[in-house]
Amino acid sequence: MSNMMGFLARRFIAGGNFEEALEEIRRLNSMNITTTVDVLGENVNSQVEAKAKANSYIDALGKINSTGVNSHVSLKLTQMGLDISDEFCFENVSRILAAALKYENFVRVDMEGSNYTQRTLELVHRWHESFPNMGIVIQSMLLRSEDDVKELNRRKIPVRLCKGAYKEPPSIAFRDKRDVNENYLKLMRILLSEGTYPAIATHDQVMVDATIDYASQNGIGSDQFEFQMLYGIRRSLQQQIAQDGFRMRIYVPFGTHWFPYYYRRLRERKENIFFILKNLVRH
Ligand SMILES: Cc1cc2nc3c(=O)[nH]c(=O)nc-3n(C[C@H](O)[C@H](O)[C@H](O)COP(=O)(O)OP(=O)(O)OC[C@H]3O[C@@H](n4cnc5c(N)ncnc54)[C@H](O)[C@@H]3O)c2cc1C
Repeated sequence: MSNMMGFLARRFIAGGNFEEALEEIRRLNSMNITTTVDVLGENVNSQVEAKAKANSYIDALGKINSTGVNSHVSLKLTQMGLDISDEFCFENVSRILAAALKYENFVRVDMEGSNYTQRTLELVHRWHESFPNMGIVIQSMLLRSEDDVKELNRRKIPVRLCKGAYKEPPSIAFRDKRDVNENYLKLMRILLSEGTYPAIATHDQVMVDATIDYASQNGIGSDQFEFQMLYGIRRSLQQQIAQDGFRMRIYVPFGTHWFPYYYRRLRERKENIFFILKNLVRH
């Protein structure tokens, strides 16, 4: 990542390969912050490439094990061949899950746009029957999420709760940000009370404070859930949460296929666009 865009992307991306990301993982671990690594990439249409991406995850799991760093992995099913077929994707990801099981590690399946929600849930339900070392992501912006959370809780599948990063049609998603936030709080309470080791993934201080309050009012220990944030976003809040004695995990993306991830981070906050424009003008 030597060009100008690469330089700008480094704000959100830990490096071009695992070795570069490892420095950042070690730095975070030294601050009592765990990580989950993401090999960047999505919507892979060739079987050869999807298998190679799965191998990159198996390689990363091996290196996490041999270096002793404290990290899980997170992956996207469209990178693993979901656009090719459910069966191909199922087999491809099963190899990663088996490696993670061998290393006693954990795999989180990210949630992509709503075209993939149902198939992602069905595949995760299937995998979880053989691989308990995995979890999924639920987006509070989707109207269906409360039902999905209850079913995942019933199956004891760990959920990472986020607001949702994809643009969705109003027929299936909350339009107003206040409703997305209200649903986030509702799902957070259901997950903390009835879920299996939920991950509360947000940079929103209001959501973080409400989670801490709900846990303390209901006698839910700080080891029963964790907070998660993205690499490079609200770093001081990340450190503060860890210093306050809560579990904090950072999503650490690395790799060369960074543009779609980067674009979602820019879209989330208009100040990021100004930051880019300012730097482009300067150079
Ligand atoms: C660990 C983790 C994993 C995720 N996995 C998924 C997933 O699998 N599927 C999915 O759809 N989404 C995922 N997301 C993204 C998520 O859905 C949101 O798009 C994103 O986190 C922004 O929402 P927020 O909760 O931070 O709240 P917001 O209300 O969007 O933001 C709250 C505050 O956080 C800060 N902030 C938020 N985003 C940015 C940014 N890009 N740059 C700088 N500051 C920012 C700002 O200070 C902002 O005011 C994940 C998020 C996290 C933290």
